[in-house]
Amino acid sequence: MSHSPESWPAPVEGPPKRRETLLVQGVEPRVDGPVNLAVQRASTILYSDVLEYERRHEGFYDRVIYGLYGTENAFALAADVAHLENGYRTVITASGTAAIALSLVACAKSGDHVLVADCVYGATRRFCDDMLSRFGVEVEYFDPLALDQLESRIRPTTAAMFLESPGSQTFEMSDVPALAAVARRHGVRTLIDNTWATPLFFRPLEHGVDVSIQSATKYFCGHSDVMLGAITVRDPTLHERIKDTVGRFGDHASADDCYLVQRGLRTLDVRLRRHQANALALIERLASRSDVLRVLYPALQSDPGHGIWRRDYGGASGLFGVVLRPEYFAVRKALFDGLQVFKIGSSWGGYESLMVPAAPAPVRRFRPAPTDGFLVRIHAGLEHVDDLAADLDAALDRAARAAST
Ligand SMILES: *Cc1c(COP(=O)(O)O)cnc(C)c1O
Repeated sequence: MSHSPESWPAPVEGPPKRRETLLVQGVEPRVDGPVNLAVQRASTILYSDVLEYERRHEGFYDRVIYGLYGTENAFALAADVAHLENGYRTVITASGTAAIALSLVACAKSGDHVLVADCVYGATRRFCDDMLSRFGVEVEYFDPLALDQLESRIRPTTAAMFLESPGSQTFEMSDVPALAAVARRHGVRTLIDNTWATPLFFRPLEHGVDVSIQSATKYFCGHSDVMLGAITVRDPTLHERIKDTVGRFGDHASADDCYLVQRGLRTLDVRLRRHQANALALIERLASRSDVLRVLYPALQSDPGHGIWRRDYGGASGLFGVVLRPEYFAVRKALFDGLQVFKIGSSWGGYESLMVPAAPAPVRRFRPAPTDGFLVRIHAGLEHVDDLAADLDAALDRAARAAST
């Protein structure tokens, strides 16, 4: 691999303001006119000077030259995310799934070997299996918790390692700095899906990771009405490769969606802290029930990943797993269908609380779903925690009654 850490520029130097203030103000605070940047809908960009027009591609990475490659709203959102991640630049994509797929395509080519953590998000796994493999990339899943085995899996053709911590659905913590250090020694790029923590609570680029990926659909947006993704790096060459890849595929982030996600970022700090507080309070309540076998959440002192979480993370988000008595699977209609505050639905990171049966990919080899109980995934939203707790208690009571008849 040609990239070297020495070639990185220094991380973007933050003005002497706290991260929370910068989230509210943005990287380029506005001082007159409307508080928010106007939405710039565009395909064609006009030039009054033909020579300027002919040179337009020189500005490809930083300027608006064609709607497809980013409007002012996309660049402004990207600047805020890059700062939040302590990175060099960010590319905004049409979804988190696109951010994952396009980052992998940018980092691997035919003949390469890619290591993928066994606990990744389902769509990441499907992209690796259905697409990367078809184009001649060899995909190998590994146990991200078996740090001592990583080195032996790295081959001369290994180009990239893809992580997600905590793991999707199963919430196990990987030692990201240690894994990334091994990869770096062998010239292997590390990519991570950091959607659970957001860069407010964990900044992968500060821990040796090369590519930090967010599904901006989740907490960045925060209101369950936009799909977007973000890819952030420190290496300018890698940034250009990713931006080129995103452009070649014709992936586009609409100006309206970028506007909404940038607006969402302004409240990310307050929202996340409420999500965290509600999650912790609900977990405390759940832990007191005998029909709850286990809670999967690294912020819990009893969680196996708690040490890593405490060392590397500044907080925890609102998403966690609950292992219920196995009999509750059969009575899940009683458990779910009478919910009054929690909703049943995919995705998470919006203001609303959600509860769904969890379904980690059955093909997982090292990090399967718990088999001793019924795994349920909860997203603690922003409602009053007492209403959430009462709803949860009532649901579990219904399930207990249904299971005993
Ligand atoms: C939702 C999600 C994605 C995919 O993001 P979309 O924006 O829905 O495409 C990727 N990773 C994780 C961990 C997610 O929760």
